Amino acid sequence: MHKLIDNYNRNISYLRISVTDRCNLRCIYCMPEEGVPLMDHEQILRYEEIIRIAAASARKGVTKIKITGGEPLVRKGIPDLVACLNEIPDINDISITTNGILLHSAVPALKKAGLRRINVSLDTLNPEKYSKITRGGDINLLLSGIDKARAEGLDPIKINVVAMRGINDDEILSFAELTIERPVHIRFIEFMPLNIKPGCDKGYFISNPEIQREIKKIGSLFPVKSDKKSGPAKMFQIKGARGKIGFISALSNHFCSTCNRLRLTADGKLRTCLFSDNEIDLKAPLREGISDGDLEEIITKTILSKPQRHKILEPSFKKCLRSMSAIGG
Ligand code: SAM
Ligand code: SF4
Repeated sequence: MHKLIDNYNRNISYLRISVTDRCNLRCIYCMPEEGVPLMDHEQILRYEEIIRIAAASARKGVTKIKITGGEPLVRKGIPDLVACLNEIPDINDISITTNGILLHSAVPALKKAGLRRINVSLDTLNPEKYSKITRGGDINLLLSGIDKARAEGLDPIKINVVAMRGINDDEILSFAELTIERPVHIRFIEFMPLNIKPGCDKGYFISNPEIQREIKKIGSLFPVKSDKKSGPAKMFQIKGARGKIGFISALSNHFCSTCNRLRLTADGKLRTCLFSDNEIDLKAPLREGISDGDLEEIITKTILSKPQRHKILEPSFKKCLRSMSAIGG
């Protein structure tokens, strides 16, 4: 199998595919209340285009794919996409990151299509707070989606929690306690001020070391071996717990030196770093009839242009042009 090593000795093997810029929620840390300007349907990659890019990436060494968005499940036909991605030789791990609102009815078809695991975003266990954070979401829909995913045997179910000071920091222990009785993975993601209106993100950021100190109030945290599917999360367990707790620390302890990711935006741009607007267009060449060999060459060149590290903490950093929902997280 081909392996593509970039200029900083990283083996690029993970492609995050954003299948839509649309979303049925408006989370306060991700989108403004009025939403973001939406792309025309013509601008969005068709499934056959996504599959061609995924297959070419796999021939260059990608083995793992995440389907994301916007909210991926608002796009029709996601199970068919999963089934086609599953057919690509060497792709051995496909997952979806979803807000879970449409999950309940989607699970059976996703499972049938070959999906094995799922990530769900859930930042609070309180229904009213959930509605506030997501600007209108109904937590019961999401919880029934998680139950269905568990009943259908999707495993592991990873819960992504963006910890925010003054918003959900009072629930850190409740999330951690969930792992004691249940075999879930709770993953605390540090808030990233990617493209939030100035003034709207004041003081949200809580570092993962601070969260760990809080959790240690209810029990010791033991590091556990992170498998390949843990991505950049550093994994821990409370003694005797059935589930695990992960920490994704893009800011306090950036993982750029081991970053193995490429991102494909819904409008067909290959992006080498979450925090860099340096993007290479694949849609135009695809629609002009590029050969597989030339497509692979563009992918290789793009990978070789991946920056060594993000610059988000440097004074020269300008806000990214795209919102998190348009990149896919
Ligand atoms: N709509 C899906 C969802 O919410 O899971 C997939 C797309 S969402 C952009 C992917 C991930 O990015 C989610 O886990 C979300 O919590 C995370 N995210 C969005 N904005 C963020 C921010 N400003 N800081 C940290 N994580 C963020
Ligand atoms: Fe939508 Fe996901 Fe962004 Fe929330 S985090 S607004 S669910 S894309």
